[in-house]
Amino acid sequence: MIPVPGFEGRRVAVFGLGRSGITAARALQAGGAIPILWDDGEAGRAQAKGEGFTVEDLAAADWSDFAALVLSPGAPLTHPRPHWTVDLARSAGVLVLGDIELFARALADRPKDQRPRVVAITGTNGKSTTTALIGWVLKSAGLTVHVGGNIGVGVLALPEPTPDAVYVIEVSSYQLDLTTTFAPDVAILTNISPDHLDRHGGMDGYVAAKARIFANQGPDGVALVGVDDTWGQGVASERSERVIAISSSAHPREGGDPGLSSGDDAEDQRLAPSLPVERPQNWVPAFAGMSGIKAVPGAIWSEGRKLVNLSTARSLPGRHNAQNAAFAYATARALGVSHDAAVAGLLSFPGLAHRMEAVGRLGSVRFINDSKATNADAARQALASYRSVFWIAGGVPKAGGIADLADLFPHIAKAYLIGDAAPAFAETLADTPHVIAHTLDAAVAAAAADAASAGGDQIVLLSPACASFDQFKDFEARGEAFRAAVLALGAVPETAS
Ligand code: ADP
Repeated sequence: MIPVPGFEGRRVAVFGLGRSGITAARALQAGGAIPILWDDGEAGRAQAKGEGFTVEDLAAADWSDFAALVLSPGAPLTHPRPHWTVDLARSAGVLVLGDIELFARALADRPKDQRPRVVAITGTNGKSTTTALIGWVLKSAGLTVHVGGNIGVGVLALPEPTPDAVYVIEVSSYQLDLTTTFAPDVAILTNISPDHLDRHGGMDGYVAAKARIFANQGPDGVALVGVDDTWGQGVASERSERVIAISSSAHPREGGDPGLSSGDDAEDQRLAPSLPVERPQNWVPAFAGMSGIKAVPGAIWSEGRKLVNLSTARSLPGRHNAQNAAFAYATARALGVSHDAAVAGLLSFPGLAHRMEAVGRLGSVRFINDSKATNADAARQALASYRSVFWIAGGVPKAGGIADLADLFPHIAKAYLIGDAAPAFAETLADTPHVIAHTLDAAVAAAAADAASAGGDQIVLLSPACASFDQFKDFEARGEAFRAAVLALGAVPETAS
């Protein structure tokens, strides 16, 4: 746990007693503060009481007495309307912050030469993959690495700082909204597409929250910005130095084989789009020649030369994973990791469960679990990665369904539709071969049989473009059900080799 200094002997209100709230209370207490906890739900209050914390109705508390309000990222700061604790804090002039900000303050409290380094990752899609990949690459290179935040362990539950450590932290837009001084050494914005707009009052608010990841970086900070969307381009162009713009081809050459080899270099180069950000003047040596990076399926390019060949990578299929690899490569280099060590880490990354995870093989049919693709944008990445797929999709659809994926319908050998979305998706697919399979088990059985009779190397892909909660507890349960159904057919698990 990371003790949070700066509030010694002071009362600090903590609202929202999920995992991060209780952890924040522990960290505050360890730093000498007096946390006062509250939650609308009885379960959180009971847990807090069980741990011996002071639980007090914040609606009836004396706010003039509080040094800060630590707000759960689940409670709205601004939209649709500020949470009642935020109103009370504001009218009493009390600072409102979140766990990432407490973490930032705990680090800033240490002498400069005793501070660990921090890599922070945000974006609409790809945060968890990029975070895990960076953690893996840095660990493989021998660094002391702690991975957490919005993924896995909450940031304040990570081990105490040491000067040699690197924290690799996934941060959500809600968490960024609750920061004021957070200044990561390397800050990454993977991409932006409309999401969570209700909580940010629209697209401007959402982009502004994401851009906060760069707001407090000093001149030594490195900003890695995905520039495939206009919002990312805007964010990148607002910074003048130490920005690496990372683009991936708008028109990837969609390879047929799962390994997605990068093909010939000239074509890679032609496909790589031009970058909107000029080479900065003030550049750190590790980045010489890297003002921008272009990621294409199977390779990372910079300044007209291929930096990394990803075609033999264990688990980085597709254009989007090449982009994630580019973020990881640049981060590793920024932290002083050698080119060779960075590449070795990328190539050996075993992948994350439920994100284009190869779960089994039956004859020449491979089964890919991309259960985490809960929206059409995420499923797009998976569909674009294969020339021909037996696609399992459906669940609780998002607004717009799969209409935006129409350009990828030619990649679908046949679709197997499940859950609430099935009838609507069937209508959108129109002439594209499809069947309403209703359940995941039925979809897996039918897709496996069709793929086997098609002959040759085939892919059965679960990439639902939907939330899962009509049939499953969450996307993890859906992915595990897929794995179980695949293995029940006699498929051989694809273990990390
Ligand atoms: P997040 O943590 O932001 O939700 P994940 O790494 O869990 O992101 O991936 C979510 C989905 O987004 C996956 O289905 C994956 O295929 C897709 N994805 C991963 N990386 C990217 C990227 N760089 N750009 C777009 N989509 C991506």
